[in-house]
Amino acid sequence: MLDDLRELYQEVILDHGKQPRNFGQPAEATRSARGNNPLCGDRMTLYLTVEDGRVADARFEGKGCAISMASASLMTEIIKGRTAAEARALFERFHRLVTTDAGGGVDADELDKLTVFAGVREFPVRVKCATLAWHTMTAALEGRNDEISTED
Ligand code: ZN
Repeated sequence: MLDDLRELYQEVILDHGKQPRNFGQPAEATRSARGNNPLCGDRMTLYLTVEDGRVADARFEGKGCAISMASASLMTEIIKGRTAAEARALFERFHRLVTTDAGGGVDADELDKLTVFAGVREFPVRVKCATLAWHTMTAALEGRNDEISTED
């Protein structure tokens, strides 16, 4: 059962890693930020369109490992339609999920497909791959135009 679950999780990550959703630079965006994870070589630019305090659109481009691309892909799906505060709160939960034993008591329903990343907590280097998109999203929301690095 656990192995089946692992396989399913891996399928989701491989699927989104190979064919990321919301990939490519949009014609317009109100905010953007660049993220860099030098330990793995993951780089991305995230584009957000924020309207009336909500994330109306989220897209990204970049290259990196399957985990970093899948995480960015799933993140852009889940933050659409959310307020900036809701998006930040999701990151806090996601961060607990991937860094705390037993997921830090996080409600799996709320994180939906993001729970596929729970397994990375066993691999600290991979945590940086999984959270890069989220750090970049936070930087974009804060209007920081400089590149953020997981090693700063
Ligand atoms: Zn990576």
